[in-house]
Amino acid sequence: MKAFVDRDTCIGCGACEGICPDVFSIDDEGKSVPINEVIPENILESAQDAKESCPVSAISID
Ligand code: SF4
Repeated sequence: MKAFVDRDTCIGCGACEGICPDVFSIDDEGKSVPINEVIPENILESAQDAKESCPVSAISID
């Protein structure tokens, strides 16, 4: 599974990075960027938590 962020929707709150910094980081435009790799099994739950915590539902994990 991989994470995706809708950059038009992301408001740059930083919640996802705070919860799962192995997958999400805020770039120099203030938007979240997910790692471009399959999410390792051991951090998938934390990535899902980050998705659930996004206030604007900008994150998808497929
Ligand atoms: S939690 Fe959502 S709105 Fe906040 S930085 Fe992450 S993707 Fe953007």
